[in-house]
Amino acid sequence: MFIGHFALGFAAKRASPRTSLALLFAAAQFADLLWPVLVAIGLEQVRIDPGNTAFTPLEFVSYPYSHSLVMLVVWGVVLAAMAGVVSGFGRTSVVIALLVVSHWLLDWITHRPDMPLYPGGARYGLGLWNSVPATIAIEAALFAAGVWIYAKSTRARDAVGRWSFIAFVVALAVIYAGNVLGGPPPSVTALWIVAILGGVLLTGWSFWFDRHRLEP
Ligand SMILES: [Zn+2]
Repeated sequence: MFIGHFALGFAAKRASPRTSLALLFAAAQFADLLWPVLVAIGLEQVRIDPGNTAFTPLEFVSYPYSHSLVMLVVWGVVLAAMAGVVSGFGRTSVVIALLVVSHWLLDWITHRPDMPLYPGGARYGLGLWNSVPATIAIEAALFAAGVWIYAKSTRARDAVGRWSFIAFVVALAVIYAGNVLGGPPPSVTALWIVAILGGVLLTGWSFWFDRHRLEP
């Protein structure tokens, strides 16, 4: 899943209005931010395999540290503790921990049975990705709901807060459409480079426009 994770980050703004949207996205996307780094250094493996499911040309051979349920609980606790040390333990920490773990649930719904419970453990997945229309319908509905909740939970302070937010939503939709319509990545190296750069860019962008929006 891709924009579905952003949907939960957007929606979490309502539960934790003083937390930067960038941090909420980083929590919901933590598995996918860590994953390309671990692929780059060879700790996790992915293979380009067009037709692996109808939706993705990737075979997730092994990703125990970024995508197992137990490790995501660990990462969730670590990030929640870090947020707690910086800004005090409270609702923010709980929201961050839940967002990190939510990644496993959403990926479990979409992936083939390749999502490990713990490193080396049994792998699960409901395989929504076997149907392109069902994947798009569910993910787009989640995304629309998340964007709507964020738009209702904040208001633009200036033109950046309005237009940069709208441009970000459009950009995510365009990237998603590109994933659906485009071919497989040329190489695993290209895949992790684009994933790391994309993760940094989107997180930074969300930090920018979120600072230009206020609680209503
Ligand atoms: Zn993922």
